[in-house]
Amino acid sequence: MTDAQRHKIKSMRFQGFGYMQIAKVTGLSRDSIRGYCVRNGLNGFAKDLITEYRIILEEEFEFELCPNCGKKIEQTKIGRKRKYCSMDCKRVWDKTHRKPYALCCDYCGKEFKSLGIKGRKYCCNDCYIKDRFWRNEDAAEVAKQILEFKKVSRLPKWLKELLM
Ligand SMILES: [Zn+2]
Ligand SMILES: [Zn+2]
Repeated sequence: MTDAQRHKIKSMRFQGFGYMQIAKVTGLSRDSIRGYCVRNGLNGFAKDLITEYRIILEEEFEFELCPNCGKKIEQTKIGRKRKYCSMDCKRVWDKTHRKPYALCCDYCGKEFKSLGIKGRKYCCNDCYIKDRFWRNEDAAEVAKQILEFKKVSRLPKWLKELLM
């Protein structure tokens, strides 16, 4: 599988395409598309994927112009990409467009802040993947610790709800 194919799979999944359609476009087999998607957390429901995609876009998108004042943003070669022309513009924009929501992660139960996105369920991508695909492994780990009379080091939220 080439980088271009991986990129294509990702972008098509984020737009809600099914495995068959992606297989036709990329020339790969349906099974290898499915396998790749399962391993990379891309086999979810379109709605969840679109929310994830919005978050990635928000975080990685490179702006030409300051969204607040429209001035061209001067990027420096080093460090993080700037999204606003100045700290003042960032403050104004955050205040008006990126209301912070205090949310609770569906997996680890930690509180986290989400800027502008109310429906976020996980504090990070790692928790999203773990909650979707690691339930068997997590349950086995917890059971093992209990049977060895060890303190349970980490109890996912779904398991906590199941136990109590
Ligand atoms: Zn500005
Ligand atoms: Zn979390």
